[in-house]
Amino acid sequence: MALPDVAVVGGGIVGAATAAYLADAGARVTLYERDGIAAGASGRNSGVVQHPMDEALASLHRLTLDLYADLAAASDRAFCLPSTPAGLLFLTPDAERARAGAASVAAAQPHLRIDVLDQAAVAALEPSLAPGLAACRVEIGYPVTPAAATHAFADWATARGATVRTSTAVGLDLAGSTVTGVRTEAGIEPAGAVVVAAGPWSPALIDPGGSWRPIVPLWGVVVAVALARPPRHVIEQLGIATEPGDEGGAGPHQPKVEFSLVTAGGSSSVGSTFLLSEPDPAEWEARILRAGAAFVPAIATAPVIAHRACARPFARDGRPLVGRIPGLDRAYIAAGHGPWGISTGPASARQVADLVLGRTDAPPIPATFDPARFGLVHGS
Ligand SMILES: Cc1cc2nc3c(=O)[nH]c(=O)nc-3n(C[C@H](O)[C@H](O)[C@H](O)COP(=O)(O)OP(=O)(O)OC[C@H]3O[C@@H](n4cnc5c(N)ncnc54)[C@H](O)[C@@H]3O)c2cc1C
Repeated sequence: MALPDVAVVGGGIVGAATAAYLADAGARVTLYERDGIAAGASGRNSGVVQHPMDEALASLHRLTLDLYADLAAASDRAFCLPSTPAGLLFLTPDAERARAGAASVAAAQPHLRIDVLDQAAVAALEPSLAPGLAACRVEIGYPVTPAAATHAFADWATARGATVRTSTAVGLDLAGSTVTGVRTEAGIEPAGAVVVAAGPWSPALIDPGGSWRPIVPLWGVVVAVALARPPRHVIEQLGIATEPGDEGGAGPHQPKVEFSLVTAGGSSSVGSTFLLSEPDPAEWEARILRAGAAFVPAIATAPVIAHRACARPFARDGRPLVGRIPGLDRAYIAAGHGPWGISTGPASARQVADLVLGRTDAPPIPATFDPARFGLVHGS
């Protein structure tokens, strides 16, 4: 079968990996990115490849771990995961809550190794933590520098012959309901197939004036600090909520800081927020550091390296959209990985690339990820 020329839109982890898999299979690929590679959440995240604790997403995560091993080989180890997980500590002052947290993780993910640690055990394991904290420890979590995998995929795509066009925003070019290429400022560029991997901006790109909005931006702020002796584990407060707060609604709650800490490459990422509107990171810095210092006191005085805000592509049902765009021909989407794109996105990229390539031997994409669950694209 002749392979189509493919335009991939979006130079985040999903678009860069899709371009790499397509180019590696011999397709002619152009990757369009309106800014720079990893300019969005893929370069500004907290930096942990982590089990998403949801069985539908866990299958993507397991495949992603295998794909990262392939990426390490393809990139001459320019990107590689640590050989073992650092371990994730869910912290709480209440030992009973730590036990309940462990029981609920064990019920959902019985194959994971989970330990309950009392206050003394936590203090011995991680001396930089505040006293009086118990924990549920799960044997997961690979810290990575936030943009590393995305750059490695883009480099792999280039090495396999893909053209990477940064500073190039595109829209879809349509003839009726068939997508015939992309529109740039310079004109129309035909393509046999288009894959939209534009993160939270994907729905507006697909349906500019319409009502097809299955993915919304969920903004996070991260403050990067230099800790002299950072914890070796990935740290989260127990019970973190990774869904929108109700800052836009009528509820009484202020949007919260949900504390997390990941250290890789000499920088510790202190997070984070889950906001429906774009925040000014400078306005959140003090609150995030204060929340973090309650768990890791040295955060209060650590030099701040940078702060950053970016949008998680939050699918309305928490599951990514991977497959054909409903109502359009020759058009595909891989987007909506929410808080887990670095941990699951490469698997979706592999799946959508196999679909575009017409690989009949590839496992079918689970119906849970079918973009048609959100209805047809408006107007088609
Ligand atoms: C604060 C924070 C912390 C996070 N921490 C983690 C973590 O530790 N682990 C984890 O697994 N996940 C984490 N995530 C989630 C993860 O970062 C995202 O799920 C993932 O990066 C999304 O990748 P993407 O390729 O779908 O989108 P993006 O990275 O957003 O890439 C989309 C790209 O499309 C481009 N684009 C948009 N419109 C156009 C257009 N018209 N033309 C051309 N280009 C266009 C954008 O410029 C952007 O570069 C975090 C997210 C946030 C916000």
